[in-house]
Amino acid sequence: MMRFALLMVFSFLCLMGGAYVSSGASAQGARAATWDEVALIAPTREVAASLFGLKSLPNVVRVEAAVPGWSVSQGAKNIGHIASTWEVIQSVGYSGRPVDILVAVAPDGTISGARLVRHSEPILTLGLSDQDIELFVAGFSGVDLLDPEGTRTGPDMPDIISRATVTTGVIRDSILRTARLLAIGRGLVPGGGIDRLNFEPRSWAELETMGAVRSSTVTLSEARAAMPGAKPEIPEGTGPFVALWAALADPPTIGRNILGEQQYNRMAAALGPDEHVLFVGSHGLYSHRGTKWRRSGVFDRLTVMQDGVEYPLTDKGYTRIDKLAHEDAPPFKERSLFHVGGPGFEPTQPFTLMLTAERTAGSGEDLSYSVALDYQLPAAFVQAPPPEAAPLWHRTWEEKKFAVFSVAAMQIALTLILLFQEQLVRRKRLWIGIRVGFLSLTLVWLGWVLNGQLSVVQVIAFLQSLLTGFRWETFLIEPVIFTLWAGVALGMLFWGRGVFCGWLCPFGALQELSNLAARRLGVPQITVPHALHERLWMIKYTLFMAILGLSFYSMREALILAEVEPFKTAISMRMMRAWPFVAFVLVLLIAGLFIERFYCRFLCPLGAALAIPAKLKIFDWLHRRPQCGRECRLCETKCTVGAIDPIGRINPNECILCLRCQVILNDPQTCPVLKRRARP
Ligand code: SF4
Ligand code: SF4
Repeated sequence: MMRFALLMVFSFLCLMGGAYVSSGASAQGARAATWDEVALIAPTREVAASLFGLKSLPNVVRVEAAVPGWSVSQGAKNIGHIASTWEVIQSVGYSGRPVDILVAVAPDGTISGARLVRHSEPILTLGLSDQDIELFVAGFSGVDLLDPEGTRTGPDMPDIISRATVTTGVIRDSILRTARLLAIGRGLVPGGGIDRLNFEPRSWAELETMGAVRSSTVTLSEARAAMPGAKPEIPEGTGPFVALWAALADPPTIGRNILGEQQYNRMAAALGPDEHVLFVGSHGLYSHRGTKWRRSGVFDRLTVMQDGVEYPLTDKGYTRIDKLAHEDAPPFKERSLFHVGGPGFEPTQPFTLMLTAERTAGSGEDLSYSVALDYQLPAAFVQAPPPEAAPLWHRTWEEKKFAVFSVAAMQIALTLILLFQEQLVRRKRLWIGIRVGFLSLTLVWLGWVLNGQLSVVQVIAFLQSLLTGFRWETFLIEPVIFTLWAGVALGMLFWGRGVFCGWLCPFGALQELSNLAARRLGVPQITVPHALHERLWMIKYTLFMAILGLSFYSMREALILAEVEPFKTAISMRMMRAWPFVAFVLVLLIAGLFIERFYCRFLCPLGAALAIPAKLKIFDWLHRRPQCGRECRLCETKCTVGAIDPIGRINPNECILCLRCQVILNDPQTCPVLKRRARP
């Protein structure tokens, strides 16, 4: 019961931790605390020249905009734009640390080049060099952002490097997302901005019906009630105190139809960057312009509000319009064009035009009344953004459907084995057959074919990502590894680390099968005294803590220390590696011929990481007899990993759930207690 309660508390804390890191604000907070000091790496003129393939050095100017970056030019000629993936989308790699790539986009909307300028990825430990990764990154040159999958024009995207799927997958997605945002932000490709190309003739009534022109009216009686006693007096009546119309005139279908072609073209030519044109027309008693603007330069009666920010209308860009192109337009007394915009103003998002009427009461008191006209540019005038390349993990799951299915099938089979272990352990031959068959499948199919070897590097990357901003996409890029971890995390609640170490670890399987062959060939087995055995366990826990601790200081060095794991050499790279790595694996395997699972017992940092929460498992599935450890110590000597102590207790942190002791316990030919009972 106590254990169950502990488990619940542990699960609750994990969930709360997960919820904390999943929430945008919290993750942002964690990121802000951790990554504030990550300085932006600006492109030098040399880097810009190389990204755009220029012979002479261009000018590079910083651009602070919604998508920040740098513009690159030579003389008056715009060469293109550069952005940092770290600055634009906070690209984070497998290590949980920033991956920063400078991405250059040419004016025609193609990627001109990309350069990796910062990373802490374990590529060296994967047998790759920086040059391999640089070549991969440079391979995005020429990709058409209107067609990132390469079905239309441009070269194919470079293939993901299989030994570094997550790293190269993160790089791919970061380059494409940043380049797309940069191209949209600079208007190099259509995307979420105002449609400034298409024109259709529309009447005033049609523009009103589609919401391109909006209006609001305050009657004389309403204004009189809102400003009682105003001087001069506002008469009663249903006529307009002010009838106000507004339209964002940038799209030709709106602007050209309202203003006529000549006025529209004049207006469009006068627009500065980030500026837009607002048409305001009114009639009634009250003027929307007033007269104060002639002295102050600011139209005090009108203002534009968006997301709580005020965008004043000034005489800069103001044009008085005397005549509209439409015959069916309302009988305006005043027609004005204003330039509206500036940093932060989003013309495609809703905004409000506020008109404030002011009068003085007979008592001398100031009276005012505001009319709000809400405006939203209809979707018909907003360009659809170009299709976004699907994140890599969509593709990898599609491509590895069969692999994922087979891993899930192995996990289901293992669940059945463990659920029906009582029946299995009474049938020794069946247990041997299933165990050898399963371990062979784990080694060959899961390990060598699917590359499904879990590693302490993944544990460290996961823990680091919890601190720096967890992202599912990063972990989903490897479907087989993700499926394995999901099953192992669930299985550990019920059975402890044995669900992985005992059955699904390819290197564990390799050690156990090679030891089995050695014993069949008569290789003598060395028994390590329990007192020494226990002390040697400390090595793997120390290694795990050292790798974890080092990862906070330097991920790169932590990953070099994680080379103590022979998995990459023996499983992922199938021994095709430099001889010192191969020699290390051979030493471990040879030691394992004399001491079964030598590496698992004393050295494995992943085993240590999985052992730490082992005591929290809900059930104890393994049986002991009162005589175990007192009258008989057979299981202790036969245990695959030496998890049984001299008084017969099983250490749940060490047990890998191979079930060997359970088979012995139920075998009347082997268990001395059963043999004695069977005597007449
Ligand atoms: S202890 Fe390490 S090598 Fe052994 S089975 Fe577990 S993870 Fe694999
Ligand atoms: S022999 Fe028993 S105690 Fe030892 S690892 Fe196997 S199941 Fe666990």
